[in-house]
Amino acid sequence: MPCRFLSVFVFVLMFASCTTTPVAHAPDRDLGLLWVKHAAEYEAVTRQVYQAARLALPRLIEDQFWTALPGQEDAEGLRPAIIFDMDETVVSGIDFQLTHERPFENWKHEAWSMANTASAVPGFVRFAVAARDAGVELFFVTNRPCEPIVGSNDPCPQQIIAMTDIVETGIETDADHVMLAFEQSDWTKEKAVRRQHIARTHRVIMLFGDDLSDFIPCVRAKPAAPCTEAATADSRRRAVEQFSDYWGNGWYVLPNPMHGSWTSAR
Ligand SMILES: [Mg+2]
Repeated sequence: MPCRFLSVFVFVLMFASCTTTPVAHAPDRDLGLLWVKHAAEYEAVTRQVYQAARLALPRLIEDQFWTALPGQEDAEGLRPAIIFDMDETVVSGIDFQLTHERPFENWKHEAWSMANTASAVPGFVRFAVAARDAGVELFFVTNRPCEPIVGSNDPCPQQIIAMTDIVETGIETDADHVMLAFEQSDWTKEKAVRRQHIARTHRVIMLFGDDLSDFIPCVRAKPAAPCTEAATADSRRRAVEQFSDYWGNGWYVLPNPMHGSWTSAR
């Protein structure tokens, strides 16, 4: 275990040891959690999404003028890339969601991630292998935040936790391909900024996410720079319609009835 990883691990364990024993959180009415955990239909949907995307890969790779980023110009000739969100898109968080003590806090998620081997969202690994074999570069843009922790000089100890989670699904990656919130000064929770960063050097052929903000800018009820206006449930629905040609055609959304920016939009 690398030293950096060990120090983060010790720190997180210190915090984890202060908590009570994890308790199950799936009251009968919490249908979202129960569905993801128990319904075979959940797995059928995620496999359907990734399989549809796999069948579309040759076409979107071959068409040098195709980009899944509205407004990306002069992309022809650039190396093709795919941008994935992480949680509930690539890495399943259901067992954390079922057992962590409310309220959600980042350090609880970090402690859980380090103590448990990550599980892939069904369908992801087969798709990622196919995309990589076809010459596509894979980027992971997550809103897990870079935050300093006591006892570590690392400005972003969360990066190695995120990278390890992806590797544990069976897909190799590195720090250049895993982009966290606040990793750079202008990388806010508005992911459009990081998508544009990737688009400077790559033709982005597909986006994968479980949250509208994984695809469309400024759809959060709590806007982050450069967005200024709070989105509403209605404005988010209009955004979905505005970009209707992309769903299932470059944009692939995974189901998440447990958490996300939809929960705060009214
Ligand atoms: Mg997510």
